[in-house]
Amino acid sequence: MHRLRNPGAGGTVSLPAVGKLINQPGYTALVADFGRASVVAALREQVATERNGTAVTDQERLNQVESSLRRQMAPVLQRVINASGVILHTNLGRAPLSRAAVDAVAAAAAGYTNLELDLDTGRRGERSTLVSGLLTALFECEAALVVNNNAAALLLALTALCKGREVIVSRGQLVEIGGSFRMPDVMRISGARMVEVGTTNRTRAADFDEAVTARTAALLRVHTSNFRVEGFTESVGPGEMAVVAHARALLLIDDLGSGAVEPIADEPTVAESLRHSDIVTFSGDKLLGGPQAGIVLAATEAGVAAVRKMARHPLARAVRIDKLTLAALEATLKQRISGREDEIPVQRMLRVPIEEVRRRAALWSVKLEDRGVASRLIKGESAVGGGSVPGYGLPTFLVALEGPASRLAAALRRGDPPVVARIESDACCLDPRTVLRGEDETLIDAVEVAARSLRR
Ligand SMILES: *Cc1c(COP(=O)(O)O)cnc(C)c1O
Repeated sequence: MHRLRNPGAGGTVSLPAVGKLINQPGYTALVADFGRASVVAALREQVATERNGTAVTDQERLNQVESSLRRQMAPVLQRVINASGVILHTNLGRAPLSRAAVDAVAAAAAGYTNLELDLDTGRRGERSTLVSGLLTALFECEAALVVNNNAAALLLALTALCKGREVIVSRGQLVEIGGSFRMPDVMRISGARMVEVGTTNRTRAADFDEAVTARTAALLRVHTSNFRVEGFTESVGPGEMAVVAHARALLLIDDLGSGAVEPIADEPTVAESLRHSDIVTFSGDKLLGGPQAGIVLAATEAGVAAVRKMARHPLARAVRIDKLTLAALEATLKQRISGREDEIPVQRMLRVPIEEVRRRAALWSVKLEDRGVASRLIKGESAVGGGSVPGYGLPTFLVALEGPASRLAAALRRGDPPVVARIESDACCLDPRTVLRGEDETLIDAVEVAARSLRR
């Protein structure tokens, strides 16, 4: 409604005209749907346009007002078809949820829940521990905590465990994750003092060892999720860092980011990280394939104590997870625990056989041909995205549309539903890997409409 003009703020149109029109049957119907203030505002705008010389019939005026109101009330957050081939596309909301997770969200959203009530004892419960048992079972660790997102998990860890003390981090890992989330900034906000060691391309275990002082609280590893350093490089593995940290009774915190449950390329898995670190943090909506959440796991005794301290810190309240997220996360974790991970869209997209991708692309191409849209199949690569597995491509087949690439991509993006394609080899390309089951026909329709719009 923020785009509506305040009807009370003296417009240029004489009120009687609008006041008379608003009581006519066509407008009273609109008032029932959109509210009187909105209709009056839209009507004023329309009448002002007419003042400037565009004469219209009564019906045309009514139609104009109605379509303007519909435009204003259309959803701002829209369902989009992701044909870009980037599985965890941050701008498109990362992981699409599984059916089970969506159902769980709907059930939790529509009624009351036992979010903070222990149904056995009738006492107050703790929301952040509702899925802890599932997390410790899935990842075979000792303690777990969930918060709003991984950035919050890291901020909470640094604040609750390291505030006023030193945290040692490699210069090669002072990363920006995107959306101005920079490690040095997070450190500053937390009140921990960052001690940088090594250089951009090379850091050794001795660098950490020499930087430890009486004020050191932890060593921090940050997964370089969205870039690669190649050439003359050296980094310290989690095992070596653990040796340094644990010899001095310091915490080893690992911001893993993507949270790979199973091996994919050379992405570090959660299990590997847990073998060495006291605290591991990652996102719920990256490789896990669940909702936006920050997951904190601990495998060591020090880690368990740290998680407890984090849960009790006042900041935990500010970054707490909401009930809809918890519902989706629980459903996703249960699918993984029970070996039904292929029901999780992200997992399915990662694993889909290349032959199936080729078949689907070929079918789209044939269907588009029938609609008068020319295309060809080309080989390409899908990306994991979302700051995971940088530089790693999954072989795929793309439907390359004939025609001006960027104009086609723009027409698709502005369509209904919007389709996000990608431009490759100077063509507007559709990657079947990231298009969800059941979206094929809608996609074909949208491509036909977009292609036609360019011919006009
Ligand atoms: C993605 C990522 C983050 C941010 O996670 P959000 O869940 O988006 O807050 C932090 N650190 C690393 C290493 C990441 O890859």
